[in-house]
Amino acid sequence: MRNETLMQYFEWYLPENCGHWKWCSQQAKALSEAGITKVWLPPAYKGSQGKSDVGYGVYDTYDLGEFDQKGTIPTKYGTREEYLQAIKDFQKEGISVIADVVLNHKMGADELERVKATMGAWDNRTWNVKGEEEIGAWTKFTFPGRNNKYSDFKWDWTCFDGVDWDDFNKQKAVFRFSGKNWDSEVDGENVNYDYLMGADLDLSNPNVLEELKKWGKWYLDTTHVDGFRLDAVKHMSFAFFNEWLKEMDEYGKEDFFAVGEYWSPELSKLKNYLAKANRCMKLFDVPLHFNFQKASCSNSNFDMGAIFNGTLLNEESDYAVTFVDNHDTQPGQALQSWVMDWFKPIAYGLILLQEKGLPCVFYGDYYGIPHDNIAPVKGLDKLLLLRKNYAYGKENRYFDHHNIVGLTREGVKEMEKSGLAMLVTDGPGGSKVMYVGEDKKGKVFYDYMGNRPEKVVIGEDGKGEFFVEGGSISVWVEE
Ligand code: CA
Repeated sequence: MRNETLMQYFEWYLPENCGHWKWCSQQAKALSEAGITKVWLPPAYKGSQGKSDVGYGVYDTYDLGEFDQKGTIPTKYGTREEYLQAIKDFQKEGISVIADVVLNHKMGADELERVKATMGAWDNRTWNVKGEEEIGAWTKFTFPGRNNKYSDFKWDWTCFDGVDWDDFNKQKAVFRFSGKNWDSEVDGENVNYDYLMGADLDLSNPNVLEELKKWGKWYLDTTHVDGFRLDAVKHMSFAFFNEWLKEMDEYGKEDFFAVGEYWSPELSKLKNYLAKANRCMKLFDVPLHFNFQKASCSNSNFDMGAIFNGTLLNEESDYAVTFVDNHDTQPGQALQSWVMDWFKPIAYGLILLQEKGLPCVFYGDYYGIPHDNIAPVKGLDKLLLLRKNYAYGKENRYFDHHNIVGLTREGVKEMEKSGLAMLVTDGPGGSKVMYVGEDKKGKVFYDYMGNRPEKVVIGEDGKGEFFVEGGSISVWVEE
């Protein structure tokens, strides 16, 4: 019996020293002991920015740091061999590995093509600013450095719907290629949000679909990963993953894991996507992230009793991957919406110690972000151990106050001394009487986080009065 805990094992500003995969191998054992059971690794294939590419500027998905392309053999994170070794080392420690899969776009084409295209408006992608014209599009991918190894598929403009750069006129705009339509069912932002960046894949082109399936199977055969994290799903036809992922799921390991990034604070959009995608993947609980962010910036004026309102966790908990921050929300990044430091232990307590959702711990919170002088989240290691060793059994919720809220877990027989009482507050400190189970009567509880000094003796009725400092978290467990 072991709680599942996912960790996003990278942040945006990892050093560009090709050393990350080796670091993964070195840390596998320690992470397993810390309570991590799944890691999500960054995109492992060659990006258009070579060694500087975090991985989302996808150039060649078959180049896992093996070929001299974009000025380098290794990727930012290392070589193909080191990547495959890191996966084995994680799996040996009982940690399953989730690969980051970016199928929305490609960047850094090898050759320019002359293509007829129509310019659309940034805020209305279906509206044509002017008539058809010839543009210079970076859309021909021949991968000369790989020389047809693993695949001889060559990409040209027919594999894409559009680009955002006309190289003839040096103009930046959204261009849709002649005879192409944006995928019809995608996120409705900017009227049609199919186009995100780079050369946007035409998922209605059967050659593209076939190649993506071929690549997916090659990837599974090569890496033996246990699941996928799917990038930018709101920019891809909602029907695409039904077919593609189903085939990967059948081809891949049993209990193949999948989580999608649908970046929207609107629960209705996430629920709509889950329904359209036949619940073939979990989704990151973006609304919950924004609740945490708001609470952290509200000077104790956020209603903590409503912290889970409007979240996937509340309405589709089986499909919710809960998180506090990630590589996009960290300072300086595209979706910057950083949860303030003081609130982070509270947010992690809320996702790690409750029964529902699969929590995802951010690398930048666990190790800190040296690039921005951000320290590791205080007590996160303790919260992980609490999840690993104590957060079991029936849950009782006390989300009945605008500042001080909490929950208890009654524990299970199989895990000695399991069970806990968590209390958090975004305002002044205080106490709350909570039920931890009748078989805990007479037992002495202490604050595992070390924030409160007293001992709490559980009464005949299975209840205790637990305490918390202002703007803090305390988690009480049996001595
Ligand atoms: Ca797209």
